[in-house]
Amino acid sequence: MNAQPKASHFVDGAYVEDTAGALIEVMYPATGEVIATLHEATPAVIEAALASAKRAQGAWAAMRPVERGRVLRRAADIIRVRGAELARLETLDTGKPIQETVVADWPSGADALEYFAGLAPTTTGETIPLGRDFVYTIREALGVCVGIGAWNYPSQIACWKSAPALAFGNAMVFKPSEVTPLGALKLAEIFIEAGLPAGLFNVVQGRGAVGGALVTDARVAKVSLTGSVPTGQKVYAAAAAGMRHVTMELGGKSPLIVFDDASLEDAVGAAMLANFYSAGQVCSNGTRVFVQKGIKERFLQRLAERSNAIVMGDPLDEATQMGPLVSKVQLDKVLAYVQGAVAQGARLVCGGAQGPKGGWFVQPTVFADVADGMTLACEEVFGPVMAVLDFESEAEVVARANDTQFGLAAGVFTADLTRAHRVIGALQAGTCWINAYNLTPVESPFGGVKASGVGRENGHAAVQHYTQIKSVYVGLGPVDAPY
Ligand code: NDP
Repeated sequence: MNAQPKASHFVDGAYVEDTAGALIEVMYPATGEVIATLHEATPAVIEAALASAKRAQGAWAAMRPVERGRVLRRAADIIRVRGAELARLETLDTGKPIQETVVADWPSGADALEYFAGLAPTTTGETIPLGRDFVYTIREALGVCVGIGAWNYPSQIACWKSAPALAFGNAMVFKPSEVTPLGALKLAEIFIEAGLPAGLFNVVQGRGAVGGALVTDARVAKVSLTGSVPTGQKVYAAAAAGMRHVTMELGGKSPLIVFDDASLEDAVGAAMLANFYSAGQVCSNGTRVFVQKGIKERFLQRLAERSNAIVMGDPLDEATQMGPLVSKVQLDKVLAYVQGAVAQGARLVCGGAQGPKGGWFVQPTVFADVADGMTLACEEVFGPVMAVLDFESEAEVVARANDTQFGLAAGVFTADLTRAHRVIGALQAGTCWINAYNLTPVESPFGGVKASGVGRENGHAAVQHYTQIKSVYVGLGPVDAPY
């Protein structure tokens, strides 16, 4: 299998290589086979990327928003036409099954490009009357933005960050996770084909140090990171030193609360989606499934039946429903959480072992009788491991659901509409669902509270994170000076 790109980086409108950078081997998670060999960005590559972004940004910001939008819309169209080819590459890069990557990853990225293409021309300032005088405001671009991505949705993340950045007149230098570097390079190619001027979207590869060099550069006005809480803390602090804007999309340990009046089949299906989609490597996953005591055993029985029927295997086979984890490191981490849960006394309901040989597979795994203090209930696993906890009352479950440093997402299943809204109102989370889970349309703002992040991606909310306001006071009378 070969997924070798033309070169490691994409700078100023073209592929760029510098073999002096440390080696990055890209592996297909279903087999461990090396499918591409890249190099980390050297200081010279990083400098070229930032310099070209800085150079290109002013003219881009000066264009009419509708013209910028047209370029982004063309990019969305190209992504849709090439959907099958791009999905295959995403599957090779991440190991996620093709039945997911065909509908979720690039299509969601195309939605973001289309959405912000349309939003840019309608984003305006305001006029504030002051009697004789008035103030008007202008929403201006920030300048050069840095995007740093995680490995779970590499192409979607690249699109979700670049779409609003570019739509509002910024340039972006993007660093993918070193584990999944391929999709962002394709996006850079597609932007050029769509007519984006060179330098406005650059991709540089590398590990944390490359990200660190970007975040601290004086030319950078904003940093948007998708990653873990510890990385977020480092990047946020580094950005703060230069008074840069930030968006932080970080991890979670989100509650999914199932009351005894909920549709059992829907709640089971949602809990599975909330833990097994992308082999559980989704930041907003509902990994603490609180089930009301009366329905617990029925819930677990149906959950086990449906989980045991999940088809694992070759991610390129359209029948495969669950693929491997992204890396050997992640596999070892997830297996350690499984062993830790058994050791701490959680009841294994199904799964718990490695999946098909040769790749980094873990079976869909469910633990019941999980207590709040167990590691499995406190830490983000980022694998297909569901923790089921039981509860009796609404007040109790709300308090327990909120008793965490995280606040990315939350869900509630109930037939009682009043209770649904009351519980969601009391939960400390940025992105919530009632009788649904993990649906993230681009129209809806996405992000977390508490340690799960700062700022929002998508929706109208993203406008304020990629623009800044200039207030202009217009005096229409004589200057009233007391001197
Ligand atoms: P990491 O936090 O390990 O890495 C995120 C990115 O930051 C990577 O590109 C990484 O480079 C880079 N990085 C690491 N250190 C630094 C540094 N000091 N300065 C600048 N950049 C740095 O996360 P993972 O890639 O392991 O992704 C999983 C995490 O992402 C989970 O915690 C998950 O919850 C979160 N996530 C959050 C989402 C959200 O929207 N809220 C969505 C998806 C994932 P490299 O890894 O190449 O070394």
